[in-house]
Amino acid sequence: MTDMNAQQLDVIGIGFGPSNLALAVALHERGSRLRTRFLEARPAFAWHPDMMLAGTDMQVSFLKDLVSLRNPRSGFSFLSYLHAKGRLTRFINRKTFFPSREEFNDYLGWIAGQFSNCCYDSRVTAIEPVQAGERVTHLAVHSESRDGRQARHLTRNLVLAPGGKPHWPDAFAPLQDRGRVIHSCDYLSQVVPKLKPGQRIAVIGAGQSAAEVFADLAARPEQLQIDMILRGRAIKPSDDTPFVNEIFDPAQTDRFHGLPSEVRAQTLHSLAATNYAVTDADLIEHIYDTLYAQDVRGDDRLDLLAETQVQGAQQVGAQISLRLSGPSGSRAQGYDLVVLGTGYQRALEQSVLANLSTWQTAQEPDRDYRLPMNDAFEPAIFVQGFSEATHGLSDTLLSVLALRSDEIAQQLETLHGSTSAIAAE
Ligand SMILES: Cc1cc2nc3c(=O)[nH]c(=O)nc-3n(C[C@H](O)[C@H](O)[C@H](O)COP(=O)(O)OP(=O)(O)OC[C@H]3O[C@@H](n4cnc5c(N)ncnc54)[C@H](O)[C@@H]3O)c2cc1C
Repeated sequence: MTDMNAQQLDVIGIGFGPSNLALAVALHERGSRLRTRFLEARPAFAWHPDMMLAGTDMQVSFLKDLVSLRNPRSGFSFLSYLHAKGRLTRFINRKTFFPSREEFNDYLGWIAGQFSNCCYDSRVTAIEPVQAGERVTHLAVHSESRDGRQARHLTRNLVLAPGGKPHWPDAFAPLQDRGRVIHSCDYLSQVVPKLKPGQRIAVIGAGQSAAEVFADLAARPEQLQIDMILRGRAIKPSDDTPFVNEIFDPAQTDRFHGLPSEVRAQTLHSLAATNYAVTDADLIEHIYDTLYAQDVRGDDRLDLLAETQVQGAQQVGAQISLRLSGPSGSRAQGYDLVVLGTGYQRALEQSVLANLSTWQTAQEPDRDYRLPMNDAFEPAIFVQGFSEATHGLSDTLLSVLALRSDEIAQQLETLHGSTSAIAAE
């Protein structure tokens, strides 16, 4: 094990996706002198690499990049990136606010490449409180590389931003490691290399990822038999109309946070169609056209099984047998591969913070994204992407990153100022 105690840090950021990348930028733009290190599980920067599908676009305007809503003059804006890459005028000629996912990933990677304080290939496995008597003064953060090298890092404060965990519905949980049921988060690396001509594949779900996977598989040369299996009557469109879109404005965070908890819950429910189990209208039309064109040809390899529930799943020989119940009754159907487009879950109690729950005084982070801990616990822990219930639907998305990261950076600076002042006394 490498003991990195010698480099005692002011801040460790867990994860180096867009949330903590935005924090790195915010600290930099504040001229921060905090000793900060980010620990990232991936071997290099990558934003949802297994869903980097050809033809996919951003679902948010490029103006909601990591900085522009806070600092439109920033050298880390999407426009600065385009300028640096020599594509600014050609991008303008495209007349769009929505870059391709590939280009946005390249933008994020361009920023990540400007920071040297991220340790890649460092998956955080545990966090341990470091005590002086009754008081917790520091946190020891344990990380492990893919080839098993372990390290221990000591920090005063923590910012947790590991993203969501792929959601495995109960019916599929026992099949998680068999290699035939694969979550969309592993699509390009684990499904595509296994494709063989004529295979039968089920895609579960009706959200954006499920629809993208269905469309991508349908266009592949292997002539696959694909069923998209959804509980609802139809694939529903995501609502990105302008009045509704205002809920993603960073200024809405205060408003939402100030609501009584039952009103927040109702609001999340009533606006779920902006983000959950919905698909971009243009992709819905593309899928409809694809199914129509196959009808014209008299073909039937693609199917949409609506109002259909997966009651059970088991491996039978080399196939996964799904027990399906739908409008025409129940039946079993065998598939060579099953792709879960079933989304992500975010639960602090299942995160690397689980060991610290005895010091936690409430489940929910406060308005400043800080976890409430008891008085004997000195380190500050901030979380990014775990407060949808209290901060609104934008919490897991990109829209608020420019502002949220700066709010956290400001808190960290203030904390550091106060501890430096105490140390100097
Ligand atoms: C395919 C896809 C497309 C999307 N498109 C959009 C979009 O267009 N607009 C939008 O607003 N939102 C979009 N989202 C939502 C998405 O959550 C955000 O875009 C964004 O990725 C959130 O950033 P994050 O840093 O919080 O989480 P993530 O991007 O998930 O990054 C978390 C990082 O933490 C690392 N990590 C996890 N656990 C550990 C650990 N234990 N130790 C060390 N590192 C760890 C991960 O490897 C990852 O790099 C999309 C989501 C998906 C899946």
